[in-house]
Amino acid sequence: MVKISRRTFLKASALAGLASSLPLIMNFGDFTKAAELLPVTRIPTMCNGCSSTCSKYVYIKNGRVWKVEGNPIDLKSSGRLCARGHGMAADVYGLGRVTQPMKRGDDNTFEPISWGQALEEIGDKLYKIIDEHGGNSVMWLGHGGKEHYASTFLDEIGSSNYVTHYATCFSSKTNVWDRMVGTTLNSDFDNANYMLFVGRNFAGGIIPGAMNRITKAKERGAKIVVVDPRYCELAIIADEWVPIRPGTDLAFFLGIAHTLISEKLFDRSFIANYVYGFEEFWSANKDFTADKAAEITGIPADKIREIARDMAHNAPKAFLDSGYHGLHAHYANSTQIAMLNVVVNALLGNMFKVGGLMPGASISLGHVETPLRETPEKGPRADGAGVEEEYPTVEPGRGIPQIVPDLIKKGRVKALFIYHYNPLRTAPDPEYQKGLKDAELVVSIPVDWNETSLHTAHYILPESYYLERTEPPKVVSGFIAHDNPQISLRRQAIKPVHNTLPLLDMLKGITAAAGYYNLYPFTVEDEIKASVKPLGISPHVLMETGCIEFPANVKPGFPIKDGKPAVNTFTGKIEFSIGAFKLYGSPGVATWVPPLVMPQGEDEFRLIHGKQPWHSHHITSNNPYLMAISDMYNGTWAWMNKGRAEKLGIKNGDLVTISSEKAVKTVNVKVTELLHPDCVWIPSAYGGFSERLKTAYQQGINYNDFIPARVEPLSGTVMGQEVVVKVSKGGIS
Ligand code: SF4
Repeated sequence: MVKISRRTFLKASALAGLASSLPLIMNFGDFTKAAELLPVTRIPTMCNGCSSTCSKYVYIKNGRVWKVEGNPIDLKSSGRLCARGHGMAADVYGLGRVTQPMKRGDDNTFEPISWGQALEEIGDKLYKIIDEHGGNSVMWLGHGGKEHYASTFLDEIGSSNYVTHYATCFSSKTNVWDRMVGTTLNSDFDNANYMLFVGRNFAGGIIPGAMNRITKAKERGAKIVVVDPRYCELAIIADEWVPIRPGTDLAFFLGIAHTLISEKLFDRSFIANYVYGFEEFWSANKDFTADKAAEITGIPADKIREIARDMAHNAPKAFLDSGYHGLHAHYANSTQIAMLNVVVNALLGNMFKVGGLMPGASISLGHVETPLRETPEKGPRADGAGVEEEYPTVEPGRGIPQIVPDLIKKGRVKALFIYHYNPLRTAPDPEYQKGLKDAELVVSIPVDWNETSLHTAHYILPESYYLERTEPPKVVSGFIAHDNPQISLRRQAIKPVHNTLPLLDMLKGITAAAGYYNLYPFTVEDEIKASVKPLGISPHVLMETGCIEFPANVKPGFPIKDGKPAVNTFTGKIEFSIGAFKLYGSPGVATWVPPLVMPQGEDEFRLIHGKQPWHSHHITSNNPYLMAISDMYNGTWAWMNKGRAEKLGIKNGDLVTISSEKAVKTVNVKVTELLHPDCVWIPSAYGGFSERLKTAYQQGINYNDFIPARVEPLSGTVMGQEVVVKVSKGGIS
């Protein structure tokens, strides 16, 4: 217990009185001063600054957020938060939040309405749409997360249309790894001696726990090689940065695979015992030598061979990281890139081995038991994901978000629920995405006045900020090999600042108003209790700690059942040849597929993009603290290679005009030797056009403005870096 003297107590009481009489939104510095003697409460919760959802502590003084810090138990934060994790906490008091339910009027402006009116009207309209067009005309379009609430709703009405944002991020990875390996595997930073990162900038799309492990590995002597068109933040700590022509990662991987096989450096026993389709792969790629890869990638053949030999020398304690956003949604050959990623690692024989790639530890949570309900049969998916005649190999669990305006135009989607997602800024071609508004009912559930809500929603239902809500526990997973499973939960730290609700309460109201009574017969507390029941821990313990680690349950070694390989594929082996691809007319094994576009002229460049360590794409760009960092580092500027810039008469800091068939935009340019000559690079955080988000408004430019909404047919991705832009000196006159 904190001891407090009478004198201090009197002073604190006076300040408490002062603080409680202060307005809710005020200068944080003044508040800090006013409240400095008040007691502090520490509440464990989960960050929402990005999808890593690090476990963290929030410190509360007089009902307001005082500071945040990482939970040391948590795998993802390891006790440290990134800049976004700190900055985003302040957005709970930000001026960009939607403060109560809103309805768009006939004059296209929004009027505030009560929760009762909003939920009743939405439920009523939903009832009429389902009655007329069937439940399959309803779509849930979200960033991802809270799937169980959405699927309960969609199951009840008979809709198969759950669509996530992943086609703009990493769909080719999950599509391929699930088919070839039966799961995704994680890099074992703690024990590797050689780490090759291609298209994955752990220091830009930062996960504090991963960076902690990577830097420790470096300190103990592990070699780090980064292959990237840009000298990215991870390259700063690497032993070697190898610039590559953007769009040619597949050729680099094929050159590595060819060297490993032709020089007999691969793990023959692993391939013989655990791989199906090796011969088919090799016969299709026998001629793709390191020299051929060098011509395409611009990386010298000797360097490609050296990397392959070094990896083989260190195998199995060597890996090619499985990559993420930088590789798995942005090229016409992203599916084949993901396939080669599996092939290279399997050739090294590093899968399920210490220092190579290991499965993440997991644990099963319980669920609330609810009475069985009779549900209607579902129709085919509106986006065609997994549908035989349309996109049969695209994962239905993820979908094709970029084409929803077309689906509305075709009459396949009549009612659209957009949850925690802003496709007008994070999917290709915002003008086209504005077509979302043409659905009969568009309900956006954001926390702030994002572009999609402002330009397309008929109703905006503001969700409580992450610090204002409690949510059931999750298993901590992804990207970092770890033996001990962990669970963490989000716990409400402060009372809602505005008239907002958690999603569960909104869905209870809407579904009841639409005639689906008692669809969610539980509270979030019931869910927490049910989740931890099979684990033998009390909900109270989890509420107090925020994150719990369990005994290790991962062991190295290829999964074997009844004496046979038993990964979750058709053959039980790693499959170099994908049967489903063959079935639908594509080659089963990956071979060279050229990128869709290539810059040719002196003023032409491939437009590529990436994350900055202080932004989570666009969602953080209205945060004044994080934008102050952008200002400090000229963060909104585009990058251009020095030699190419000189030829166009462009100097550091100049305004340039960047144009494609879709957009013409002006931006300042950073002239640098740290970027491949064939591309311009822009950060993915900027280009805000919601007037209600004043800090983000018209800051920098966004790559989505320049690309059309296309679909890579195997995995459904957007091919976000398949665009050639022209660059000229000077702004638009
Ligand atoms: S990585 Fe940063 S933004 Fe993402 S959840 Fe962790 S602390 Fe928050």
